[in-house]
Amino acid sequence: MISVENVSFAYGTGDFRLNVPRLSMQSGERLAIVGPSGSGKTTLLNLVAGILSPDSGRIVVAGKDVTALTDTERRQFRASHIGFVFQDFALLDYLPALQNILYPYRVTPALKLDQAVRERVEVLAEACGIRDKLDRHPNELSQGEQQRVAICRALVTQPKLILSDEATGNLDPESKGRILDLLFEQASEAGATLLAVTHDHELLPRFERVIDFADYREVADA
Ligand code: ADP
Ligand code: MG
Repeated sequence: MISVENVSFAYGTGDFRLNVPRLSMQSGERLAIVGPSGSGKTTLLNLVAGILSPDSGRIVVAGKDVTALTDTERRQFRASHIGFVFQDFALLDYLPALQNILYPYRVTPALKLDQAVRERVEVLAEACGIRDKLDRHPNELSQGEQQRVAICRALVTQPKLILSDEATGNLDPESKGRILDLLFEQASEAGATLLAVTHDHELLPRFERVIDFADYREVADA
């Protein structure tokens, strides 16, 4: 599902460089990434999602070399194959929660917004405890509620790859458990691959593999 080979990436500013000689994930696998703040966890997810392009190397996702796609192709590929729960939610302030969740369908002609999708939104929103908040704008929602909207948006397309960046960072312990169950449930129902960044060490037993960026010698910050 994911194959990263000899990837090197640096931002235009600063001296941070991420080197990933090799990272691969089988379809359906669950891999957690832990590590200190600033170690490049979010950068790696952005590279896998094709939001950032590596300076060198190759990233293949679901058989597609994302480094070889144009910007438009990459955006479409992302919307139809990848569910990304961003660390900062990345919700659009001018759209109510429902339209944020349905956003992938607005930008991707290949995705059809039909009755089944609308029903899926209802089920997801119910499971996340935001069903009565769907007409609210992000600025009328708490951090935790915004995070749940972001999770619903990531899951509504039933993606084969779920990238999750501290998806439960803003949730109280009780809803955290529920939301995580949902994430794992959706992943296993759809046979999806789950690549998750987390600070929550008690969650690690739920993953088949863990990469600690603190020990990851290839992640060099100059
Ligand atoms: P993590 O998610 O592990 O906390 P990040 O991948 O966000 O780490 O960041 C890794 C490093 O890259 C940090 O030193 C951070 O300051 C830097 N960085 C992140 N985003 C940018 C950016 N857009 N421009 C320049 N530097 C950045
Ligand atoms: Mg981060």
